[in-house]
Amino acid sequence: MTWWERAYLPEILRGLGITTGIFLRNMAKWVTGRRGAVTTYYPEEKRADFAPRNRGKHILTQRPDGSPQCIACNMCATVCPAKVIEIEAGFDANDPQHPKYPVRFEIDYSRCVFCGLCIEACPEDAIRMEQDVPSLVAGDRWAMWLTMDEMLTWNPKQDVAKPYPPKPARPAPGEGAPGGRGPSTH
Ligand code: SF4
Ligand code: SF4
Repeated sequence: MTWWERAYLPEILRGLGITTGIFLRNMAKWVTGRRGAVTTYYPEEKRADFAPRNRGKHILTQRPDGSPQCIACNMCATVCPAKVIEIEAGFDANDPQHPKYPVRFEIDYSRCVFCGLCIEACPEDAIRMEQDVPSLVAGDRWAMWLTMDEMLTWNPKQDVAKPYPPKPARPAPGEGAPGGRGPSTH
């Protein structure tokens, strides 16, 4: 090291000069309405250039009648590494095809890490993530909970509604599946 390098002070002053110059240049652009280093004024502005497969806001898919496709199995909440999904299940004995349904489905966005594991775990394609990102700005962390109502505003519903397979007919006594095994004797 030369004595000049060992002095440090000149280099510190040179660095401060560069930083100040860039700051003033960007500030001048900002006050005159041009773009400087700050390209997106979040949260007033939102980016629109997300990658096509970006995983942002969660949505719940729906059946054609508008009811959530979710069967409240809790798989997504179980796999969630941040433990931010809360589901309360209801039971409708009058609906034999899907008696279990979510009464409450909420995600705490203040702790969600947007990993997408909940989407992977869902056996019903009932939860997805949109390309767009949610508005995460809030003065109160309790305002950052995404509710089921918000997740059900996604359309079109018919695009994702997975038709339930018809109930398999109960085989007649003594009748096994053709070519398959007969009823178990265990
Ligand atoms: S994206 Fe990840 S962290 Fe967020 S709710 Fe889903 S599993 Fe949990
Ligand atoms: S969203 Fe999917 S994984 Fe989560 S409770 Fe509903 S059906 Fe189960």
